Amino acid sequence: LKIQSICPSDVVDQALTLLKHRLASYDVTVTLNRKEELPQIAGDPEQLKEVLVNLIENSCQAMEGRPGHMEISEGLENQEKPMARIRIHDSGPGIPADLLPRIFDPFVTTKEDGTGLGLSIANRIIENHGGSIEVRSVPGNGTTFDILLPCTDRKK
Ligand code: ADP
Ligand code: MG
Repeated sequence: LKIQSICPSDVVDQALTLLKHRLASYDVTVTLNRKEELPQIAGDPEQLKEVLVNLIENSCQAMEGRPGHMEISEGLENQEKPMARIRIHDSGPGIPADLLPRIFDPFVTTKEDGTGLGLSIANRIIENHGGSIEVRSVPGNGTTFDILLPCTDRKK
């Protein structure tokens, strides 16, 4: 981990820039909901970008073959400490209830050529940052992933 003080909003921008051409090849509209830049966190920007790229690609692949919508929303959550939240919602088919508890396990894939490693790596990266990934999905109503990362404590 190459930890530095970073703004998660910048990482979102970098992931979207990196994926621009691939996103254009899908029939997917992307909305970014950002009121203001998220507060600083301590993190490895390359690894966090990899997480976002993985989740965004999963959403695109889930919606493949039909028009879809993806919404990336930034927010703050006050748990035991303030957490920066990056939410990725897609209008895809959703994840079946029996699959949902296993999607972070390695080698779990429903894709012909999938590795099933994307989410397990993403989960490990976020845990290494002291954060968590949560998923909600209703078949027919899309899927929402929340990435939560602890904000750097600025008082002191
Ligand atoms: P891979 O993409 O190689 O299949 P992942 O670990 O990234 O591996 O994802 C595991 C599985 O979780 C996928 O094969 C898919 O079944 C499911 N999944 C992940 N994200 C979504 C999503 N946004 N919508 C529907 N299913 C998803
Ligand atoms: Mg994947």
